[in-house]
Amino acid sequence: MNIILLGPPGAGKGTQAQRLVEAHGMRQLSTGDMLRAAVKAGTPVGLQAKAVMERGELVSDEIVSALIGEELDGMGPTTGAIFDGYPRTAAQAGALDAILDARGRTLDHVIELEVDEDALVERICGRFTCANCGKGYHDAFEQPREPGVCDKCGAREFKRRPDDNEATVRTRMAEYRAKTAPILPIYDQRGIVARVNGMADIDHVTAAIERIMAG
Ligand code: AMP
Repeated sequence: MNIILLGPPGAGKGTQAQRLVEAHGMRQLSTGDMLRAAVKAGTPVGLQAKAVMERGELVSDEIVSALIGEELDGMGPTTGAIFDGYPRTAAQAGALDAILDARGRTLDHVIELEVDEDALVERICGRFTCANCGKGYHDAFEQPREPGVCDKCGAREFKRRPDDNEATVRTRMAEYRAKTAPILPIYDQRGIVARVNGMADIDHVTAAIERIMAG
């Protein structure tokens, strides 16, 4: 099964993708994570992407589509893919069709997480992750059970994304509205879009996604 999780920054795509990975052994393909890894490693792609990401703008379609193709090539043919944060433009949606086609894969569902944008700013600006295992937390909604210690792996170091500040978040949302939301009709026409209330609590959202996938 191959699915796209679509929604503005902070909608919960990454959280839900991690749950699907754990429950179904699927692979999360997050172009944001791939780009952050490239920035950290100082690769040519990372050097090109760093400033763009810090401004909250979109990295070039060619770069992200190449990353997705490489990642799919490293996966077993029967492992399901969860596209998280990709595609984000009409050009990327077209590229994804070609990428999947070339690998004999089809797109089963596009799941849109519908959210209230004002609430997202609070969600995003409070979030942080374990520096070791990547488990997500939030200042107001989900602190580690033991302060300063990751629930999942016991590490004591946490990190925040440099683009999780209000000014950059507003740009990222504007980019979503202008370039990403308009690709939904492409998938609507194919009858593969399902909408989920992304403001519901995390377990409810997971259950709704599971129903769609079982559907
Ligand atoms: P994310 O982790 O999905 O919020 O992505 C963080 C940043 O990485 C975005 O604000 C963009 O600058 C860049 N990025 C991630 N995915 C894409 C994509 N599919 N197309 C263009 N830029 C992307």
